[in-house]
Amino acid sequence: MIHDNPWPRTLRRWCYGLALAGLIGWGLGLAAEALALALALGLLWQFRYIARLEYWLRKDSRFEPPHGRGLWEDIFDGIYRMQRRHRTRRRRLGALLHAFRESVDAVPDGVLVLDEGGEMRWWNDAAERLIGVRWPQDRGRRLDNLYRHPEMVNFMASEPDESRNLAVPAPLDPELMLDIRLVPYGESQRLLIARDITRLRKLEEMRRDFVANVSHELRTPLTVVHGLAETLAEPENGLSEPDRDMLGLVLQQTRRMNRLVDDLLMLSRLETGPRPAAGEVVDVADMLRALAEEAQALSGARAHQIELQIDSERGLRADANELRSAFSNLVHNAVHYTPAGGRVTLQWQCDAQGARFSVIDTGIGIAPQHIPRLTERFYRVDRGRSTATGGTGLGLAIVKHILGRYDAHLEIRSTLGEGSRFCCHFPPEAVTPES
Ligand code: ADP
Repeated sequence: MIHDNPWPRTLRRWCYGLALAGLIGWGLGLAAEALALALALGLLWQFRYIARLEYWLRKDSRFEPPHGRGLWEDIFDGIYRMQRRHRTRRRRLGALLHAFRESVDAVPDGVLVLDEGGEMRWWNDAAERLIGVRWPQDRGRRLDNLYRHPEMVNFMASEPDESRNLAVPAPLDPELMLDIRLVPYGESQRLLIARDITRLRKLEEMRRDFVANVSHELRTPLTVVHGLAETLAEPENGLSEPDRDMLGLVLQQTRRMNRLVDDLLMLSRLETGPRPAAGEVVDVADMLRALAEEAQALSGARAHQIELQIDSERGLRADANELRSAFSNLVHNAVHYTPAGGRVTLQWQCDAQGARFSVIDTGIGIAPQHIPRLTERFYRVDRGRSTATGGTGLGLAIVKHILGRYDAHLEIRSTLGEGSRFCCHFPPEAVTPES
C-alpha cells in the first residue's frame, strides 16, 4: 500500500549500494569497474520488474499483481488498485445501462435514436415490432431508406419539432396506425417516438360513424314532426291560443334540432370527406359583399352597422360552399353576440404572408379563459345566451375544420365587454395571384 513518498527511500538504497560497490572497488584498486558493475546489476534488477509488469498487464491484470520490492511494490499496488476502481465503476455503469435499456424496452412505444445524419443508432423492442427494424443488421442505416412512406420521408426531412406529429400506417402492417414524433436532443440527434394508435383510430372512426348515422336517422322523423306541427298550426285548423303557443314551441325546437343535425352531418362530412380539389377559385370580395347584406338582414331591427373593408380583389383556391359556410358562421356569430346598434366589420387583406379574412365586432367579448376552448364541439361561454340566439355550439368547430382543409387557421382575440376579432389566416399557396 502506498503510504509515503517512496523516492527518498529508493534513492537512499541506490546511494548506499553504489557507495559500497565504490568502496570495495577502491579497496581492490578497481573503483570504476566496481561502480559500472553495480549500475549494470541495478539496471538488470529494474528490467526484471519491468518485464514482470509487462507480462502482468499483457496476460490479465485482473489477477493479483506480481510481487515487487521497494518502489516496484508501490507501482504494482497502485496500478492494481486503480484497475480495481475502474472495474467497479465499469460494472456499476454497465448495470445502470442494463437497467436503463430494460426500462426503455418495457415502454410500449417505439423509441429510436437517430444521429445527426439520420442514421439509426439504437432502438427498443417496441420499435422492432412497430417499425420493423432489426438489431443489429439495421444499425447505421437511414430510417427513410427503410420506411419509405412519402409522408414519413417528408416528415423526416422537416425540422424536428416535438409539438408536431404524423399519423402513418406501419411499414410492415398497413392495418397498424402509428403516431410518429421527432424530438430533437443533444447536439443534433433526434429521438423518434412511434405510438400504436390503431385502437384510438378505430374508436374515433366508430364515434364518427355513430354520430353521422344518428344524425342521418334523426332527419326523417324530425322532418315528419316539423311538417305535422306546421300543418296543425295553420289558421284554418282553428286552434286555441295556448295550443298555438305549444305548437310554436314544437316548431322552434324542431327547427333547432334540424340545425343541429345539419351541423353534425356537415362536421362528419368534413372529417371523413376528401380534401376539395384545388381547381375552384372563389371570388372572396364578391362573397363578402353578399355576406354583408345577409348580416344586415339578420340584424334586422337591431340595426347593427355592417362595414366592409376589402383591400384586395385576390381570391382563394377553395370550395365556395365550404368557405361560405365558415365565413358566414363567423359573421352570424358577430351579429348574434353584438348588442343592437353595435358595429361588425368584415375585412379582407392579402400580402406576402398570405390572406386574412377578419370579422371584428364591438360585442360582448369573451373572457380569456374561454378562448382556447371555443372551437371545441358544443363549447359555449354562456349556454343560455347561445341557445337563445339559436346557436348549436358547433359553428366554430366547423370553421376550424374547414380552415384546416386549406392549411389555414383561426386566430381569436377578444376583450370582455369591448368586442372580438376572429381572423382566418390563409397561406400564400391558397391565394390566387393579382390579376
Ligand atoms: P354557437 O352556435 O353557440 O354560437 P359557436 O361554436 O359558433 O357556437 O361559438 C361558440 C361560443 O363562442 C358561443 O357559444 C359564444 O359563447 C362564443 N362566441 C362565438 N363568437 C362570438 C363573438 N363574436 N362574440 C362573443 N362570443 C362569441
